[in-house]
Amino acid sequence: MTLAVILSALAMTAIVALRYLAASGLFALATARVRPGLYVRLGPQIRREIGWSLLSAAIYGIPAGVVAWGWQARGWTLIYTEWSIYPLWYLPLSLVLYLFAHDTWFYWTHRWMHRPRLFRIAHAVHHSSRPPTAWAAMSFHPIEALTGAVVIPALVFLIPIHVAVLGLVLAIMTVMGVTNHMGWEMFPRALLRSRLGGWLITASHHQRHHENYACNYGLYFRVWDRLCETDRGLSDALAPPAGAT
Ligand SMILES: [Zn+2]
Ligand SMILES: [Zn+2]
Repeated sequence: MTLAVILSALAMTAIVALRYLAASGLFALATARVRPGLYVRLGPQIRREIGWSLLSAAIYGIPAGVVAWGWQARGWTLIYTEWSIYPLWYLPLSLVLYLFAHDTWFYWTHRWMHRPRLFRIAHAVHHSSRPPTAWAAMSFHPIEALTGAVVIPALVFLIPIHVAVLGLVLAIMTVMGVTNHMGWEMFPRALLRSRLGGWLITASHHQRHHENYACNYGLYFRVWDRLCETDRGLSDALAPPAGAT
C-alpha cells in the first residue's frame, strides 16, 4: 500500500512536470513566432523560472498523487465516471463551481502573499520574473506552491465532478497559468472589450499585477477584484488602450 501511494505521488509529479514543460514550451515557441525577441536577454530568469516550477511540480504532484491513489484504491473523493449519475446540466455547472472556488481561494491567498513578511519570504520568487514569461506559470516558492497544490485535491472531496470535467478544469488551469504570464495577449480585442470579457482574466489583466503589484489579484475572474476594488484594468503594454476597462 505504502509503495503504491509513493508510486502514485511520483507518477503524478512526473505528469505535472511534463505538463508544465509541454504547455510552457509550446507557448514559448508561439511567443518566438508572434513576438520575436520578447524573451531576448531573459535566459537566466527563464532558467530560474523552470527550476522553481519543477520544484512546484513535486509539491503539486504529491497531494494529487495521494488523492488519485485513494480514488482508485479506496473509493475516496466525489469524482465520478458514469455520465448518468448527475443531470447533464451539472457538467457545466461543476466546471464553473470549480473555477470559481479556485479563483476565490487564489484571490484571498494571493492577497495574503502580498503582506510584506510573506511577500519577502515567499511571493517575491514569483515577482522576480520581470517581466514574466511563459515559463513563469509555476514559478513559486514552495510555501506558495503548497497553497496552490491543496486546492483541487480538497475540492474533489467537496464538490462532485465528472472525471472529464476535472480534466477540463486542469487543462484550463494549465493554459491560463501559462498564457497569463507569456507577455502578449492571445485573445481578440473584441472579446476583451465584450461584457463577458470584462469579467475574465487574461494576460492583459495579470500583466498589470506584475507591473503594479497591489492590484489585479484574481486568477480566472475579475469578480473579487471588482468587489474588493482592487481591479486596475488591463496593462497598457498588452491591451488596447482606447476604451479598455
Ligand atoms: Zn503571476
Ligand atoms: Zn502577486
